[in-house]
Amino acid sequence: MDLKRLDERLDELGQPAYRGRQVWEWASGGAPGYEAMTNLPLALRTALAADVPFSTLTAEAEQRSRDGTVKTLFRTHDGHPVEAVLMRYRDGRRSVCVSSQSGCPLTCTFCATGRMAFGRNLTASEILDQVLHFRRSEPVNHLVFMGMGEPFMNVDAVLDAARRLPDIGITHRRTTISTVGWLPGLERFVEEVTEPIRLALSLHAADPTVRSELMPVNDRYPLPDVLVLCRRHWERTNRRVFVEYVMLAGVNDSPAQARALAELLGREAFKVNLIPYNPTGLFDGSSRAAIAAFKAELDAARVPATVRLTRGRDIAAACGQLVAPARETRPALA
Ligand code: SAH
Repeated sequence: MDLKRLDERLDELGQPAYRGRQVWEWASGGAPGYEAMTNLPLALRTALAADVPFSTLTAEAEQRSRDGTVKTLFRTHDGHPVEAVLMRYRDGRRSVCVSSQSGCPLTCTFCATGRMAFGRNLTASEILDQVLHFRRSEPVNHLVFMGMGEPFMNVDAVLDAARRLPDIGITHRRTTISTVGWLPGLERFVEEVTEPIRLALSLHAADPTVRSELMPVNDRYPLPDVLVLCRRHWERTNRRVFVEYVMLAGVNDSPAQARALAELLGREAFKVNLIPYNPTGLFDGSSRAAIAAFKAELDAARVPATVRLTRGRDIAAACGQLVAPARETRPALA
């Protein structure tokens, strides 16, 4: 729900400040609507239901993967599409992947989101409502800002939302913000944030020419400047920065490129996550053997590295596949 509007409305209704906290306590705990908030007077529940929509987002369609992953397409009040994904793991982990913008203004060549029209930044409430949608059906305990958009282009709303996540059951240690290295937002995050929120960097190529081809933003904010800030985050929090590296056949997956990456990162401050490419058109994904050989080079250099488990590919819910088609073509909510 729009928490600003809620506070304003409560104020207009002459309600004490603790009412807002009560409403948030219910909403963050997964309550289905105002009617469930039994410690609020009935007349107030009715007034709020009429004036402050329970969610800022309307769920329009939902798809379920064979692996248990759920992808939901939402619409903002002004018609912008937003997608979020819930990943379920056998060990009980429930991880939500949220969008920070509708679409994305960056044009990374391997990512489908960059090809849809950019809408706008989402508000903190619109980010939280993605999480609450899933929270209403089951407890959730991890979150990644890895859906549509560049979180550090919308740093205020992202941090506002991140700071409220513990109320929903997601601690800061289990929250990850992923960035292409958008320097102004990254700088604020590194300088201001004292909470132990995890930082992830989409790196994808150690070589500047290759990285600029894959991610035009590299010309604007060169990698060396970005890495300085990432190291500072590691020094401040003592938490390694995760490096995302999508494996593209013949582009960035050679053993020599793995050694260059190891050289660039060193052993201490980073942990590499190799991401199998999810087909979006332009590239071929690296073979399993190429990924294993790349990882072996990182292992030899003693740079911690893992290969990301792909989830939700059959419903286009995997990394880089979020691209909401036009409204008319969506199936009805299942
Ligand atoms: N803009 C931020 C947040 C999005 S995170 C960022 O880029 O970090 C989404 C992650 O999925 C990024 O690491 C991105 O590089 C990766 N990704 C994009 N397209 C992909 C694809 N087709 N296959 C695998 N990973 C992809």
